[in-house]
Amino acid sequence: MSINSKKKAEVLRYLGYRNQKIDNITDRLIEDAMDEIGVLAKERYIYKTFSINRKDDELSLHGSKLILDGNDIKKHLSKSQDCILIAATLGHNVDTKIRYYEKISMTKAVILDACATVAIEEICDKICKEIENKLQAENKALTYRYSPGYGDLPIHVQNDFLLTLDAGKSIGLTASSHSILIPRKAVTAIVGIIDIEESKEKRSCMSCNKYDTCIFSRGGNGCGD
Ligand code: SF4
Repeated sequence: MSINSKKKAEVLRYLGYRNQKIDNITDRLIEDAMDEIGVLAKERYIYKTFSINRKDDELSLHGSKLILDGNDIKKHLSKSQDCILIAATLGHNVDTKIRYYEKISMTKAVILDACATVAIEEICDKICKEIENKLQAENKALTYRYSPGYGDLPIHVQNDFLLTLDAGKSIGLTASSHSILIPRKAVTAIVGIIDIEESKEKRSCMSCNKYDTCIFSRGGNGCGD
């Protein structure tokens, strides 16, 4: 499968297609939207490594005010001494264009939104690959990405997360009073550093990097893809 076909398959997944045949018009709209994202997206990202402090059942990061509440993130990082905070964004142009299409064609808006989701996930995959390439020499790897709002990790940690990375200044990524990322087509995520052997564990939805956007499952066993 070519890179473009893989990308299109991902877009269709986010649009709710499951092996159905798509008509020529939709196919064309997706191709156009993928091209449009290529022009509109201004990729920016930052990541930093932190040692994990575990004290009185509280999980925090050395040199940061960020407290990682909830049992799910504790489980996710249970095999890590260090973790990496990642923030990435496609920039404001993509949001502006989606809003514009919402006024004139909801179909185009929904398709552009799905293409943007695929694009930001691709950037996150690229960042993780870049980090893993560096970690390989130490026989280390990464867990899947885990974002504020997953499981019982509260979404309201978003502001402290962004402050820890100084993401506002460094990549122009902030959050609203309701912890919604601005620009919206953005991702914040935590990955744990683990021994390479640990990284071969069975995939589950809770540890999957598509958990935030996957419409097929919200927990339990993964799809195994
Ligand atoms: S593992 Fe779960 S969350 Fe991930 S893509 Fe499969 S069904 Fe979706």
